[in-house]
Amino acid sequence: MSDYVSYAIDAVYVVAVLIFVLGLKALSSPQTARRGILYAGVAMLVAVVVTFITPGLSNFALIALGVGIGGLAGWYWARVVKMTAMPQMVAMFNGMGGGAAAAIGAVELLTSVSDRVVASLSVAGAIIGSISIAGSMIAFLKLQGWMPSKAIVLPARQVVNTGVLVFAVGFGVVTLWTLNTFWLTPFFALLLLYGVLLTIPIGGADMPVVISLFNALTGIAVALDGFALVNGPLGDAGYAMVIAGMLVGASGSLLTFLMAKAMNRSVSNVFFAAFGATEETGATIAGSMKPIEATDVAAMMEYANQLIIVPGYGMAVAQAQSKVKELADLLESKGVPVKFAIHPVAGRMPGHMNVLLAEAGISYDKLFDRDEINAEFANTDVALVIGANDVVNPAAHREGSALFGMPILDVEQAKNVIVIKRGQGKGFAGIENDLFYRDNCHMLYGDAQAAVGKLLAALKAQ
Ligand code: NAP
Repeated sequence: MSDYVSYAIDAVYVVAVLIFVLGLKALSSPQTARRGILYAGVAMLVAVVVTFITPGLSNFALIALGVGIGGLAGWYWARVVKMTAMPQMVAMFNGMGGGAAAAIGAVELLTSVSDRVVASLSVAGAIIGSISIAGSMIAFLKLQGWMPSKAIVLPARQVVNTGVLVFAVGFGVVTLWTLNTFWLTPFFALLLLYGVLLTIPIGGADMPVVISLFNALTGIAVALDGFALVNGPLGDAGYAMVIAGMLVGASGSLLTFLMAKAMNRSVSNVFFAAFGATEETGATIAGSMKPIEATDVAAMMEYANQLIIVPGYGMAVAQAQSKVKELADLLESKGVPVKFAIHPVAGRMPGHMNVLLAEAGISYDKLFDRDEINAEFANTDVALVIGANDVVNPAAHREGSALFGMPILDVEQAKNVIVIKRGQGKGFAGIENDLFYRDNCHMLYGDAQAAVGKLLAALKAQ
């Protein structure tokens, strides 16, 4: 009987994995992304439920308690989290995955240290999982504003960090060599310290890349733990962990490289260059910030050959997306073509702007990536920047700026640029924006929702 049960369980795991793959595929397009999330959730539920009938599994009550507490906490936080706080929630959930992988590694080492294969895989999983949980927690604290988001650079950090990592791995090797679990305490302590030291010199603007890489690492740690479990009595569950972990590891790595590319940086530069540690000095910006009234902007827009809207974090905070849709519809009904320029790191999470604009019912064919639309700004009468700052900062073209090299939306090339923001607030990177001082740029001050509301009223009155 147990053979049949085992085959049936394997078959269900294969089905779960196929649903995971379908979910990932659906996540590659905004139109099908919701379905992708649903598939992934169903696959995870199937995998968890079938694990309960794995022969040899014990401690049901304890496992059910853990699943219950974790499930309820995750469900509650995901329901109440604001869209703008999504990156820190991802960092937190991802850190939990890394912590779970490190904990599985620890349990395997404590119970099967004499099995060299299991122990080696567990050490590898524990190294990656421990760095991932400590690093993700620092990312969470920085994004939540509970720790300065600026890069914190300690003296001789490269030497100290390398030393800590070498000693940590050394304790892992000593554990494998001596089969003495006593060395696990300094092993884990130094790995957690390394995760912290690795992440504190990274500035806030690079955090999306960091979270994505830790997410990939968590997947790899889970896969390594899966390999270790395959050799134990719960082998079947191990296969599921290997495949799910590798899917996360592979897709997370691809996302990391894509995001680094969007910021024109290499992943090693993000981790080791302490970007944003020093404020740019000596760069004085010529010109002044010039306010403008909503009625003047409305007139300008009504006679424009085309309007390009550039949404950013401020639009998300103000929840202005529905008003923005109304504005776009009204202008189009008056014969003004409207396009949306989407920067890959606008807002606070990958795809943030796409999600908000889709929620408001703006059709996908009006959304254009940076590469697709940048050349159009020069032939556009009006670019309307709504709560975006860093992603339109021409300082990115200036050597010495903390943003140097980040590909931006070249809105400054439009004939007229209107920027909606509340005041003199800086962007996430914390540096001044040259754009706001340009001759062709005017500031429509106010909360994004209120300001777009005024534009609507002015257009309707014209
Ligand atoms: P940003 O540079 O953070 O600037 C947002 C601007 O919105 C601020 O200058 C602020 O100025 C304004 N603002 C805030 N609340 C507002 C409101 N209620 N109404 C109107 N304006 C408001 O935003 P961004 O241009 O979208 O750039 C995103 C930044 O976040 C990048 O540096 C990126 O690297 C980083 N990041 C991105 C992600 C991601 O995955 N997308 C994740 C984490 C970090 P006032 O205070 O003057 O209003």
